[in-house]
Amino acid sequence: MVKILMATSEASPFAKTGGLADVLGSLPSALLKLGADVRVIMPKYGTIPEKLRDSIVHNCYIYINLGWRHLYCGIERAKYNGVTYYFIDNEDYFNRASLYGYNDDCERFAFFCKAVMAAIPYLDFIPDVIHCHDWQSGMIPVLLESGYRHQELYKNMSTVFTIHNLRYQGIYGIDEMKEWFDLNASYFTDDKLEFYHSGNFMKGGLVYAHMLTTVSETYAQEIKNPFYGERMDGLLNARSNDLHGIVNGIDYEEFNSQKDPLIYQNFSKSNLKGKAANKAALQQDLKLTIDEEVPIIGLISRLVDQKGLDLIACVLDEILSDEVQLVVLGTGDEKYERLFNEAMNRYPGKVSANIRFDNGLAHKIYAASDYFLMPSLFEPCGLGQLISLRYGTLPIVRETGGLKDTVISYNDETGEGNGFSFTNYNAHDMLNTIRRALSFYQKKTLRTKLRKAAMSCDYSWLSSAEKYLELYRTLKPEA
Ligand code: ADP
Repeated sequence: MVKILMATSEASPFAKTGGLADVLGSLPSALLKLGADVRVIMPKYGTIPEKLRDSIVHNCYIYINLGWRHLYCGIERAKYNGVTYYFIDNEDYFNRASLYGYNDDCERFAFFCKAVMAAIPYLDFIPDVIHCHDWQSGMIPVLLESGYRHQELYKNMSTVFTIHNLRYQGIYGIDEMKEWFDLNASYFTDDKLEFYHSGNFMKGGLVYAHMLTTVSETYAQEIKNPFYGERMDGLLNARSNDLHGIVNGIDYEEFNSQKDPLIYQNFSKSNLKGKAANKAALQQDLKLTIDEEVPIIGLISRLVDQKGLDLIACVLDEILSDEVQLVVLGTGDEKYERLFNEAMNRYPGKVSANIRFDNGLAHKIYAASDYFLMPSLFEPCGLGQLISLRYGTLPIVRETGGLKDTVISYNDETGEGNGFSFTNYNAHDMLNTIRRALSFYQKKTLRTKLRKAAMSCDYSWLSSAEKYLELYRTLKPEA
């Protein structure tokens, strides 16, 4: 049985800011069902909900050297969905109000990477593969080679690094990284960690891990081009034989219209009446005009440029000149928070802007909306469109990354499709596609057919988990 230790900075339901957490909350248990022994290691944040925090038990503690300091590192554990989650505990670094965004993030995640490597002998579990996710864990493969490979316990370990979003790389000063990681100048050349005169956590993973993956096949191709490559396209081309695209799934238990306790009323593809009840209840809760005949477009997202919000800003009034309601849930750049708040003031009963992170409301919006808008500039995989399909809510997306791989634009002639899409990053192309989607809303038979088609798609983890397992087995054929 292959043994995998996944290192991550977030995992649902313990800590979440985005899709990475969803993946680490559901892929491990899917792999477990396929017979792999998968465990996860992550920081013990102060924001972990109390009920889950109570389930975490203390294992032991060690000390980690960081620069001139000698720091406490608790090793704790909990079970979730049958999977063991280990936690790295250091109150100074992780007992804070947010996960990221602090001046000492370089130091905090250097501590995390070092702690993961040092904790392995204390986990009663020796992994065959350390699977690192995103920049916060990117330096683990470097540490394995620089400081651990010669030790018996670590001698045969392999590493996989997964890019969930190439835009966030963890770029810091070379001197700072040298100090926290005890690495000399030979590691900071342009074929290793040096990146445009700085150091780069993610580059550590991209150079040193045995195998690289990213979260959709299209994104795996796109990032080899300068437009999507975030200045890593050269390196990714050089490693293209080791780079695999495996699309994310979603947790079919958590997102299940028939059982979801967070939505107003359960429904299924053979009984869609409950979807209308969700819509009426959401309209009431959010002070929108209660009217089944007016389609709702949902948007649940980090409010950042990546998500194509400048396209929406460009044609928002034109969108709202139609018979439509817009429900937004998200936090992020102030300009976008203001855009949607102002729209809510200008279009009472028609726009609802909810500028916060709210998992319960997210489920309600997925269930109640008719369409889900995701016009991303780039999208490694995207989960919003997969979740909305599961609730019979038709995605309207730009054809990029995972959106291109999972949404098939409705074809009038063949009758095939599960949503609507456009190619160019252009506001009026998006507007035309929204209008095309809205034009089908009053055709009730077609509407029902499309909803059923959406709900019949299978984006559960099973087939993607099998692909990960195959990959691990190429690294450890005997396991
Ligand atoms: P990204 O990882 O780039 O943020 P994804 O589409 O991969 O985008 O994943 C986003 C996840 O976070 C989805 O599960 C989405 O529903 C959730 N999400 C985003 N913003 C919010 C919010 N404000 N409240 C609740 N859930 C949110």
